[in-house]
Amino acid sequence: MATFKGFAMKRLNETGWVEKEVPECGPLDAIIKPTCVSPCTSDIHTVWEGAIGDRKDMVLGHEAVGEVVEVGNLVQNFKPGDKVIVPAITPDWDDEAAQRGFPSQTTEPLGGWKFSNFKDGVFGERFHVNLADANLAHLPDGLSDEGACMLVDMWSTGMMGSENANIPLGGSVLVIGIGAVGLSSIAGSKLLGAGRILAAGTRPISVKVAKEYGATDIINYREGAIDEQVRELTDGVGVDSVIIAGGNLENTWKEAIASAKAGGTVSNVNYLSGADNVLIPRVEWGCGMSNITITNGLCPGGRVRMERLADLALYGRQDPELLVTHRFDGLEKIEDALYLMKDKPKDLIKPVVRLDLD
Ligand code: NAD
Ligand code: ZN
Repeated sequence: MATFKGFAMKRLNETGWVEKEVPECGPLDAIIKPTCVSPCTSDIHTVWEGAIGDRKDMVLGHEAVGEVVEVGNLVQNFKPGDKVIVPAITPDWDDEAAQRGFPSQTTEPLGGWKFSNFKDGVFGERFHVNLADANLAHLPDGLSDEGACMLVDMWSTGMMGSENANIPLGGSVLVIGIGAVGLSSIAGSKLLGAGRILAAGTRPISVKVAKEYGATDIINYREGAIDEQVRELTDGVGVDSVIIAGGNLENTWKEAIASAKAGGTVSNVNYLSGADNVLIPRVEWGCGMSNITITNGLCPGGRVRMERLADLALYGRQDPELLVTHRFDGLEKIEDALYLMKDKPKDLIKPVVRLDLD
């Protein structure tokens, strides 16, 4: 195959199909044929909110499971025909930021995020993966393509939100926004030993999965400020940890900080767009002296991360497929899946597209 077809961001606010040359496989790299892909809310921020600026004819998508079609001559652990989980984030593992413990930020801030940011993403018949030995994981028997596709970004990001939230054993957690990422934060918080987990969200399908993943209380943010409802539910005390996985720049940061106890943590995983500044409420932040820590991060990638997340699914700790609400078949359906993600109908958490490519 000399060229491949892919679904791309043609420019800001415009998508369409493109035909491109199949990328060259470097000595440490791999070329992958996807077998299952899923659109991300971040693709929506990228195309229609200009969150990372303009891009020209860039193939979208960064959530995929696939089959290896080619490897470079220095790749040791993968060969053509292997089924693989492809992390959304594919760092340069020899970079200094990786050596300092921040692989997702290699070469520049957010630099580990290559697919559908700096290079063509996974919504095509072929895509390129740098450093295959470190940036691919074998798909284990017993894990479906659809389930594995939920690990590469949704679980990895949402559970990072919980890992960054300093949850004490038995501690209380508030998750703001219960799309696929926030739901994964609920799952991660339960696994990390949270006692009470409050989830702020409204869509019935998300509320159902939130409870299955471990939420103990549901807060409807349309019925009043989240922090006021949290205070009411916790006898005025607040929670140990807050995870921001949705919301807006006008209210959410105030509500998050005002929900946290002194000494607590507010952990952001939301991709912020729409205004230039994040407003930290001065009084609720204890005039800057509350010991409330604010953390954030980009989705972790890498083989070991994927293998660990796969084990959570394989050994029955949580079920990634609960996030999948819509299933499509065939390359051309990628367009429908992306627009579904943009329109967010009430019964949607995540769509997947299954592919059977030559
Ligand atoms: P989503 O849109 O499905 O979920 C966000 C949820 O927040 C929705 O259910 C929405 O109804 C809800 N919401 C809207 N306004 C709210 C409010 N005022 N208060 C509370 N909830 C509110 O998106 P998602 O796919 O779950 O992703 C969540 C965010 O994480 C997105 O911004 C996405 O781009 C980002 N993201 C970040 C990373 C990362 O590496 N940090 C990775 C993937 C996704
Ligand atoms: Zn994403």
